[in-house]
Amino acid sequence: MQIKKYSFGIGDRFGRQGSAQLNALIKARENGCRIAPVWNKSHREHQIVGTSPADVRTEADNAAGACKWSEPYYVDADHICKDNVDGFLKVSNFFTLDVADYIGKPAPQDQVGRFIESCLTLPEEISLPQPGGKIRLTGERIAEVAGKYLAAARRAASLYKYIENSEGKGNFITEVSMDETDEPQTPEELLIILKALAELDVPVQTIAPKFSGSFYKGIDYIGDTEAFRREFDADLAVIRYAVEEFGLPRELKLSIHSGSDKFSLYPVMKAGLQHCGAGLHLKTAGTTWLEELIGLALAGGYALEMAAEIYCSALERMEELCEPYAAVVDIDPDRLPAANEVRNWSGPDYAAALRHDPSSNAYNPHLRQLLHVAYKIAAELGEGYLDALDDNREVVAENVTKNLYDRHIVRLFPGI
Ligand SMILES: [Zn+2]
Repeated sequence: MQIKKYSFGIGDRFGRQGSAQLNALIKARENGCRIAPVWNKSHREHQIVGTSPADVRTEADNAAGACKWSEPYYVDADHICKDNVDGFLKVSNFFTLDVADYIGKPAPQDQVGRFIESCLTLPEEISLPQPGGKIRLTGERIAEVAGKYLAAARRAASLYKYIENSEGKGNFITEVSMDETDEPQTPEELLIILKALAELDVPVQTIAPKFSGSFYKGIDYIGDTEAFRREFDADLAVIRYAVEEFGLPRELKLSIHSGSDKFSLYPVMKAGLQHCGAGLHLKTAGTTWLEELIGLALAGGYALEMAAEIYCSALERMEELCEPYAAVVDIDPDRLPAANEVRNWSGPDYAAALRHDPSSNAYNPHLRQLLHVAYKIAAELGEGYLDALDDNREVVAENVTKNLYDRHIVRLFPGI
């Protein structure tokens, strides 16, 4: 199983927007860009919403059937580890092995020694394919990086083997993620990590490093876009080098996590992909749930009231809701509108505050982040929330498709 050059992670908290999301990719295909859909949902999300990995498989199969999607599509066991992988087996065909917790952990000394030796065959100075620049690797630096990352690579290998035993070789896509950690990985570190994965026979097809700058949920990138450009371009070049030199799968590409709404980075990435002819996987998760809220608000009546009450509850329970996402949200409580103000908003007022349109004065990134993590409240409403989605299917779907296509796909993927 080989992933296409471009793929798009379409998370869906409540499993109701499968077709609306797929329609964005159908529109992309009609306009000349083929992008593989990947339904991703992490163990954390399943726990908060009360769903199971089999539900995601059902949603994906139903959406593909309803939309007559005849190309490959995937169900991603997102951010899995040994403790929670079992529930994802047999229903997923894409596994994101999260080994961030193993970065910096010690690996057996003899293994580290052997790995360092294998790295010493690399030239001291590597000229990366354009526009990657040069990477200098001293023995000292190799030893340092090997010491920091070998345990994580070994963890990925053992998790990969475990999944392979269940699913069979070649029957799933393997992603390795290291993004949920404090420090970004430099291109030279990425090179050594890929070398280690190759030595350990992990057929990695997508790799998710942590980039510098802040990737908060649902809002734009905060950081130095020029620094990101250098890092991203160098990473693309490292991947090309690793494929040629280490024998990793030809499909190997970067995976960008918390990728939704990073509008200031999309032109940077698009240019890099175009220049290198490289592929990309972009993961989104919560952006679609926010479009559900926008759709409900615009529908007015009881649906608008429900959207307002979800915000009011979120305001009261901010600490609890943010806790599992502490590293990926940055909310200034002083910038959040008061509950009574929101209760008096019209549907268009609510939509304008929440919709990610940086050129609009009404857009409020603090409210947007709070609602991003507030899906637990909608989950607690249970059937009431799902019925509201069903009652207002059209307006919700329209916003979901438009958001993914106009704001994400067109800006990011070359060829459209
Ligand atoms: Zn991630």
